[in-house]
Amino acid sequence: MISINDIENAHKSIADVIRKTPILTSRTLSSISGNHISLKAEHLQPIGAFKIRGATNMVKAVAEAGTRHVVTASSGNHGQAVAYIAGKLGLQATIVVPENAVSSKVAAIRGYGADIIPCGTTSTERLQKAEELTSGGKAEFIPPYDDPLVMAGQGTVGLEILDQIPDVDAIYVPVGGGGLISGIATAVKESKPGVKVIGVEPEQGNDTYLSNKRGEITAIERADTIADGLRASQPGDLTFPVIQKYVDDIVLVSDDEIRDALRFVLERMKQLIEPSAAVTVAAAMTNKASLQGKNVCCVLSGGNTALEQIGKLRGGV
Ligand SMILES: *Cc1c(COP(=O)(O)O)cnc(C)c1O
Repeated sequence: MISINDIENAHKSIADVIRKTPILTSRTLSSISGNHISLKAEHLQPIGAFKIRGATNMVKAVAEAGTRHVVTASSGNHGQAVAYIAGKLGLQATIVVPENAVSSKVAAIRGYGADIIPCGTTSTERLQKAEELTSGGKAEFIPPYDDPLVMAGQGTVGLEILDQIPDVDAIYVPVGGGGLISGIATAVKESKPGVKVIGVEPEQGNDTYLSNKRGEITAIERADTIADGLRASQPGDLTFPVIQKYVDDIVLVSDDEIRDALRFVLERMKQLIEPSAAVTVAAAMTNKASLQGKNVCCVLSGGNTALEQIGKLRGGV
């Protein structure tokens, strides 16, 4: 398991690459929720998502150990993050993406100079392909979430929230494979254990919710949700025990609630976020954790939405 020390070290290591993203507020959002809501704007990171944090922490570490070629499998943002930091450090990057990946994300990966291999539609297929490419030590695999360096990098979001909102009561965090929430929960619970950490998953991608309920890693057949960054079919071997230990609750939001939240943030706050980030706003707007008058932070995890996806929001924009 990672500790808060690993997260503090990660914060130092990645400081020259990431931004300390701002905290945004909206009175309307707060009054809808019945809580004081603030949003941690990770959609304003380089590559448009928090994934730059974990990827930078791990790619820097393996580069220091002599690696010149990194490989990953990702539905987009992690791929972009690895491509971006590899390009910056002068390393070769090969990114395995799903055949149905969001077009703007694939275009961005290409733009950072990485090689792209489209493969299948499930994370299992992509992970197998990536393993082939790295077998025999030809290259280093950078996992999207299930690695201590990646989890520690993502956890730096938690350190910044505690610093920027000293009186925060609860934090809503989107859950895919669990790298982001396991990092944030470690940072929070090992310094301010009274602060609640609440995971948010789409109803149709509820693998961590089910796993947490049953007390063991439980895979779902297919995560068919608009939140394309949360389609992992099961939590990680390393992330899940941290979630069990530190996460207070996991709540579910519907795809319609995600669309409403995304529209709200776009229309009222003038911020373009992606559906995977909108899940936390959806949870706050519908007060899934039954909080009243609390200081609640929603992690806006990313902003990489294709224009054609915006057009499909119910009711138009
Ligand atoms: C990857 C991702 C998530 C989920 O993060 P995990 O570490 O896989 O749980 C949430 N939102 C966005 C925008 C992402 O790219």
